[in-house]
Amino acid sequence: MSLFGGPKTPQAERYDAARQEIVSAVNRLVAQEHGAAGFEVRDPYPGAGEIWRGRHATPVPHLRAVRALRSAVVEEERRALDNARGAGLTWEEIGEALGLADAADRANQTLALAAWRYAAMRVMPDEPDPEWAYSYRRDATADWRCRACTGSVHEGHPDNGPVDAERGHQPGCARFAAVQAAWRARWDDDEDDAGEVSP
Ligand SMILES: [Zn+2]
Repeated sequence: MSLFGGPKTPQAERYDAARQEIVSAVNRLVAQEHGAAGFEVRDPYPGAGEIWRGRHATPVPHLRAVRALRSAVVEEERRALDNARGAGLTWEEIGEALGLADAADRANQTLALAAWRYAAMRVMPDEPDPEWAYSYRRDATADWRCRACTGSVHEGHPDNGPVDAERGHQPGCARFAAVQAAWRARWDDDEDDAGEVSP
């Protein structure tokens, strides 16, 4: 049950569980580095109930631990994206798992584009492309290791089409060959629809 009486969504339960893990991780990190000196006993606010009273990390160790956890989460997210795309999930499937569908809708973006932008540029659908994405010689890419060929793939903007976007598969990669075949078939279909003759 939530504070407002209804059953909690799976998403809310996942968040609550993650919050508890983070609080535990903060306390463990502070204890490892500072021992008992990293904690103080205080009420988080005046008149706080007994359950809130207790050991809390002192300000500087608290900030340092949270900052380290944040960096570690970003890195773990990068690994999870690499793992998912490397295993062959589509950007739609990745976007769905990341919970980007509603935000992509509101921003008039396909879920696939929203997921690729999130992986390549760390932005939500309603956020603009960051300047750095186009300020270097190479455009933004989502980077992952293909499980089929072990190639290190740097995947550019989906508008380029999968064949041009996916750079770095090893020669003879069966997965990339399938991508190329599907792409060719799609173009052939489009040409047939337009009444044109394929060369
Ligand atoms: Zn490959």
